[in-house]
Amino acid sequence: MKTLGVLGGMSWESTAVYYRLINQAVAARRGGLHSAPLVLASVDFETIAARQREADWPGAAALLGRAAGGLRAAGAEALLIATNTMHKVGDEVAAQAGLPLLHIADATAAALRAAGVKRAAFLGTRFSMEDRAIVIDRLERHGAPILVPETDDRALMHRVIFEELCRGIVRDDTRAAIAALIARQAARGADAVVLGCTEIGLLIDERSSPLPCFDTTALHAAAAVDWMMETT
Ligand code: GLU
Repeated sequence: MKTLGVLGGMSWESTAVYYRLINQAVAARRGGLHSAPLVLASVDFETIAARQREADWPGAAALLGRAAGGLRAAGAEALLIATNTMHKVGDEVAAQAGLPLLHIADATAAALRAAGVKRAAFLGTRFSMEDRAIVIDRLERHGAPILVPETDDRALMHRVIFEELCRGIVRDDTRAAIAALIARQAARGADAVVLGCTEIGLLIDERSSPLPCFDTTALHAAAAVDWMMETT
């Protein structure tokens, strides 16, 4: 198996999910005591979130590029950035490290297309909902049309991500509020929802969502395992 480099900590709550999903998939596919050969760099999220708030994306890219360089030095052969939002600087970070990037949008678009989704609502941070260049444009280029929630719903989703989910707070009343948000996207014509922030799967799944869910964390982790198993 090839060695994966995981750039995580954004937040660590979802990085822990990636780690579990990647190892479970390797064990399921290889059996025995097999587990995933990977190296992890987990950053202090406050230092990255502060740069997001200040729109200091070059500063965030520099910090993440150094961490990704460390992954390469430790044996990583490709880079997984375990957040949608920081794909804003994904290409620069991967180039700085000299590693190929396993892009979160590619795994997600492939699943949307395979399921025949016509228009998926995209839930994420306000950065990734409002700056289409981060993930949405790439999904659409790969044939997956996207619906972005309206202003109040974007504000609600962003607040829940940073004030609750990234702090490990998972509340039933919030789950109901986000299910209602998803129902509003269905009323606007969405036939699926992309959980386009790596923490949303901590709150919402197929049972609680009024629309079929495409969880970027699970899809990205599965794509990484496919890459690890490739023989070429
Ligand atoms: N994990 C989140 C995402 O997938 C949000 C945290 C961040 O801003 O990186 O976008």
